[in-house]
Amino acid sequence: MELRGVGVGRGLAVGPVLCMPDPLDEPALVRRTTDVATEVAATRAALSAVAADFASRGAVVGGTARDILEASALMAADPTVLADVDDRIAHGLTGERAVFEAFRVFESALVELGGRMAERAGDVRDVSRRVVAHLRGVPAPGIPQSAVPYILCAGDLSPADAAMLDPALVLALFTRDGGPSSHTAILTRARAIPAVVGIGADLQLVDGETVIVDAAAGTVLIAPTATEIADTERRIAERAAAASVPLRAGELADGTRVPLLANVGTHADAAAAVALGAEGVGLLRTELLFFDWVVAPTVEEQRAQYTEVLRRFPGLPVVVRVFDVGADKPLRFVPTGPPEPNPALGNRGLRALRRNEWLLRDQLTALAMAQEETGADLRVMAPMVNDAEDAAYFVDLAHELGVLGVGMTVEVPSLALLADQVLEFSDFASVGTNDLTQYTMAADRMLGSFPQYQDPWHPAVLRLVKAVCDAGAAAAKPVGICGEAAADARLAVVLVGLGASTLSMTPVAMADVRAELALHTLDEARMLAARALQGRTAADSRARASVPL
Ligand code: PEP
Ligand code: MG
Repeated sequence: MELRGVGVGRGLAVGPVLCMPDPLDEPALVRRTTDVATEVAATRAALSAVAADFASRGAVVGGTARDILEASALMAADPTVLADVDDRIAHGLTGERAVFEAFRVFESALVELGGRMAERAGDVRDVSRRVVAHLRGVPAPGIPQSAVPYILCAGDLSPADAAMLDPALVLALFTRDGGPSSHTAILTRARAIPAVVGIGADLQLVDGETVIVDAAAGTVLIAPTATEIADTERRIAERAAAASVPLRAGELADGTRVPLLANVGTHADAAAAVALGAEGVGLLRTELLFFDWVVAPTVEEQRAQYTEVLRRFPGLPVVVRVFDVGADKPLRFVPTGPPEPNPALGNRGLRALRRNEWLLRDQLTALAMAQEETGADLRVMAPMVNDAEDAAYFVDLAHELGVLGVGMTVEVPSLALLADQVLEFSDFASVGTNDLTQYTMAADRMLGSFPQYQDPWHPAVLRLVKAVCDAGAAAAKPVGICGEAAADARLAVVLVGLGASTLSMTPVAMADVRAELALHTLDEARMLAARALQGRTAADSRARASVPL
């Protein structure tokens, strides 16, 4: 059987599948129907089983992971929490609800303590969910545990789960939900984990069954034949051989330079970027450096992180984006107010930072300090900027706090249309095609249900990119691309033809893009771009730009 979705990256993999259970609902607030002693005994048994499971997994993995798992085992046996659980059961709650409430109190207490204690709050939640799953007799939530490499199948993955994936174990993944520009897709692409997202169908698979994930084709093959497996293994070996060609700077066939920059979110990404020949960083997603922090990092903590990244790129440009908080990238230490029905259209990015100016001030101060300390070619940009007033606010504050190179991420259509106004006073623009596609096409990047709209090849998106590049040329300011579009090798050529001066992408995509750029002159790239602009749909633009010149 073949399933179709949207591929992320161009990789492929074959292996046994393991399914990740869907997240558990919150236990209902209902009166228990059993007597206290029975309910307490069943709940204690579940707590002990979960504690034993943590302890035995800790013994297997060893090292730091063992310390973390042993700490979780202790949480599941904490006498104060156990007494609280018993008490809540005695007052009429079910075991599930009592566990949920008692651990929630425990979690809040840790958050209030702050610092290192607060960082354990997520582990407390994990323990609580596991105990509830045990009481319900369903598999424990979260990424499956496995000692051997496997292909992960999930309804959806939270960015936190995606960030925890170990590429040595997870050969590939596929999901029912999620779009190609979702953060989950970006994180898996960055870890070179081939993925197919938005399969749409509910997946009824048996753990251990062999599957083939082909991200370039956007397909998942269930129970493939021996010939299909052998063919996939041959293609995997060919891709591995192609990836080891020497590293060069990005340039077109006529020698026009197109610096290939990296999108990074962690120190590991930054190291991979250097190893894969990045000519700088086009997007440092700072919110990913702190995505699991419960309390805001201090100026000093931030300075240390930014310095470490900047030191890896001496003499090369590093574009840092200030916290893009909200919507698909919540940060627990930034208050973004009550839940909104449409978070992508609400309090996120620069909007959220303007309402929490202390945070933006701290971050810009830390960046200025890191620049001072390293002498790096640092440039800073703001996400989710709407117009010239927003842009001027950011430029003024950055200058006041000592940051010199200041630009804007262009990812809201209003800013693309007003790029001429903004480029009068900001130093550069970087087009974020993921959000620009979402907002231009009114198609949620978190959903896979409208892939024909959630596609940066759409001529409406390409025309906006051209508008920004034209404004850049008129003002003699550089315009780069930092969305996933730049990682699609054929689209990368079109973007250069539209006028982009740099391309920034997940480091693993650089080899494919470098090879494709070298096949075309600037004139050819411009002709391909002109064709793509005439398309009527995303698929049509892609097809027009694929016909040989
Ligand atoms: C974008 O929106 O294209 C972008 C680069 O930012 P992010 O994917 O982090 O929203
Ligand atoms: Mg964005």
